Amino acid sequence: MAKSITPRSEDYSRWYTDIITQSQMADYSPVKGCMVIRPLGYAVWEAIQRELDARFRATGHQNAYFPLFIPESFMKREAEHVEGFAPECAVVTHGGGKKLEEPLVVRPTSETIIYAMYSKWIRSYRDLPVLINQWANVVRWEMRTRLFLRTTEFLWQEGHTAHATEAEAEEEVLRILEIYRSFSEDCMAIPVYTGRKTASEKFAGALRTYCIEALMQDGKALQAGTSHNLGQNFAKPFEVKYQTAAGDWEYCWQTSWGVSTRLVGAILMSHADDNGVSFPPFLAPVQVVIVPIWKSDDQKTRIAEVARRAEAELGPKFRVKADLRDELSPGWKFNEWEMKGVPLRLEIGPRDLEAGQFTAVRRLDRVKTPVPFDSVGSAVGSMLDAIQIDMREARRAALVAGTRDADDYEKFKKDLDEVGGFFRAHWCGEAACEAVIKEETKATIRAIPLSGNRAEGRCLRCNGASHEWVYFARAY
Ligand SMILES: [Zn+2]
Repeated sequence: MAKSITPRSEDYSRWYTDIITQSQMADYSPVKGCMVIRPLGYAVWEAIQRELDARFRATGHQNAYFPLFIPESFMKREAEHVEGFAPECAVVTHGGGKKLEEPLVVRPTSETIIYAMYSKWIRSYRDLPVLINQWANVVRWEMRTRLFLRTTEFLWQEGHTAHATEAEAEEEVLRILEIYRSFSEDCMAIPVYTGRKTASEKFAGALRTYCIEALMQDGKALQAGTSHNLGQNFAKPFEVKYQTAAGDWEYCWQTSWGVSTRLVGAILMSHADDNGVSFPPFLAPVQVVIVPIWKSDDQKTRIAEVARRAEAELGPKFRVKADLRDELSPGWKFNEWEMKGVPLRLEIGPRDLEAGQFTAVRRLDRVKTPVPFDSVGSAVGSMLDAIQIDMREARRAALVAGTRDADDYEKFKKDLDEVGGFFRAHWCGEAACEAVIKEETKATIRAIPLSGNRAEGRCLRCNGASHEWVYFARAY
């Protein structure tokens, strides 16, 4: 099975495509830049959705749905927003065989259409806060695409909230940032850096953008989620206003925030290996696979019976599958389930049967442990918990090892080429200096930490005075 996966060390980007297509997570579509998400890939996205949706609801948010089409004039009302998104918009000019009076933009993000509605719905301070989330698809006309990481159409959630005060809006964006951070770490087993974006990297139209940034196996950073404090930048052109208790009219303070199917790419680029994809138990579509090994027909009957019983016993608590296919060898099945990322395998052969036990094998490191039949339920639970933690800690170690201090510009350039990763470096705060660094090294400022980074220093490139360090990296 794993025969034709290109090794990471040979060609990282072919490896990435190989593991996705061969595990049948996704496929290229007949439309350039678009992706077909197959059942295995979609099941991971559904697991992400389920958990995030629960966390959004627990913090008071509700789901709603807004139209795919946005009048072109709406996009133009906020100047930075239109400038940021115009180059990647798909525009519908004809419908029903006729030229439209006003072209419609296929949503690249929904601030404008949602806030046009908020301006109708919000009247009084009693209507606030508005805490709405939408699960939807969006379209951004990308020139260079990569499965899950950057596709012309992708799936995401976009939260859109309106508040009475600036402080409440800021509290909201940081609350969401923390949901993204803890979800990434606890569920995806991907520790991340959090922080604020620089003015040049922030969302088009936002006052401030906060983000989570992860480190991929090839040393590049991946922005995995963003939370924007929009200030009153959209409230003013869209007239999102409320009447205070005293009877005055004020503009609302707004936020928007999102994560997308890019998270599936983050999981792959964090955990997959040369044998295929690898899922943390929390999000794995199949958590446990039972693979019988038999030689004689008599063994087959008894072993299949034990495998079925274990499947039935584990079924209510875990996503489990007994692979009883007759025409395939055990070795072939091991490879297939490894390639499809199942975190735990229970083998049962004639010797196991005699000993009254399964042999459990972890996808992560192939460590084997005997598991007696009568304790399989509790053993599987604790083994999956341990795998979840071990996967997270392996990625934490990689993040720590992949983060360096940089104070010499020439060495920084050399390290970027040779090892990649994150670099803690001082920056003078000038956008022009940031732009030169990007131009010369292709590295960008990924995040300005929210705390713990205050220190006097000299800018990495221009030697100007700096009061804090930031994270630089080359990014997807
Ligand atoms: Zn500088």
